[in-house]
Amino acid sequence: MKIIDLRSDTITPPTEEMRRAMVEAEVGDDVFGEDPTVNRLEALAAQVMGKEAALFAPSGTMTNLIAVLTHTRPGDEIIVGNEAHMFWYEVGGASALGGVIMRTIPNDEDGRLAPESVEQVIRMENVHFPPTTLLCLENTHNRCGGAVLTPEYTGSIVQLAHQYGLPVHLDGARIFNAAVALNVPVSELVRPADSVCFCVSKGLSAPVGSLICGTQEFVRRARKWRKMLGGGMRQVGVIAAAGIVAVQKMVDRLAEDHTNARKLAEGLAGIPGISLRPDKVPTNIVNFESPAAISGPEFIQRMHAQGVKVTNRGGRKVRAVTNRMVSATDIDEVLARIGRLVKELG
Ligand SMILES: *Cc1c(COP(=O)(O)O)cnc(C)c1O
Repeated sequence: MKIIDLRSDTITPPTEEMRRAMVEAEVGDDVFGEDPTVNRLEALAAQVMGKEAALFAPSGTMTNLIAVLTHTRPGDEIIVGNEAHMFWYEVGGASALGGVIMRTIPNDEDGRLAPESVEQVIRMENVHFPPTTLLCLENTHNRCGGAVLTPEYTGSIVQLAHQYGLPVHLDGARIFNAAVALNVPVSELVRPADSVCFCVSKGLSAPVGSLICGTQEFVRRARKWRKMLGGGMRQVGVIAAAGIVAVQKMVDRLAEDHTNARKLAEGLAGIPGISLRPDKVPTNIVNFESPAAISGPEFIQRMHAQGVKVTNRGGRKVRAVTNRMVSATDIDEVLARIGRLVKELG
């Protein structure tokens, strides 16, 4: 039985072209700034994002943490969505290592923060208060089903933050999925943000890595934080080489993941007992609720036994993420297997 892995788009192995680029990569000591391949990737990232500079780091978790460390000081308060990856899945690093309070406000189902909510929690100057020093956005929004923030929304919420002197960090781990879904240049999506990070290790299929982009001065300071966190790597051009292929060659194919996700969502919606909103699947993440007949974890276990791997998001909430290793035919197979499983449950 073929295993179909929908747990995450991070499971994607490097392509043949990436492996060749890795073997042939020219390298040097990147802590001395002497790895030509890393330098090329950083220049490429900055150019594609329309920012002055970029920095290569091991993971999205580290680039988000570096953003917090660079924008804030211990004792500050930052505003994040209550469904943000930074809040849920980064081990509380912003607080533990950055010493900041994460003030959460609701994300709506499309991953947005309401301007009124943002305005309500920005602290005025008061001897009792920690200063609010950063607003964080996420595009696409992981827990909000791969929701996409438009350039218009991003522009207006950033403008509001800037009115209060707050810089904005954009967690763009899957920003290329947003750009493909909206058919706009990625630079347009990130232009308003003061800093943005994106992963090459997800749908783009590179084995490792994330880049954080911003002004020259921001990246100069970010580089010191990366060093402090132990993210200064040496001949890391062997990995950056795959990142270059990811950015140059792997973006357009994300549309295929989106088509497959929609197909999966529409199919699941037709299976009695499974509930989801197929109109809320703009990119490659399909969130749904498993049938009430059994518990969520049990359902997922039964799916795994049928060779379909997905993840649990608590209770009966299930997440499936389409990726390069899953074809349209595989989606048909997934739907057939889940259909049979649901029928067995009665
Ligand atoms: C995956 C992800 C990250 C973190 O990336 P890692 O490389 O896994 O540390 C950050 N933000 C979002 C929205 C993500 O989906």
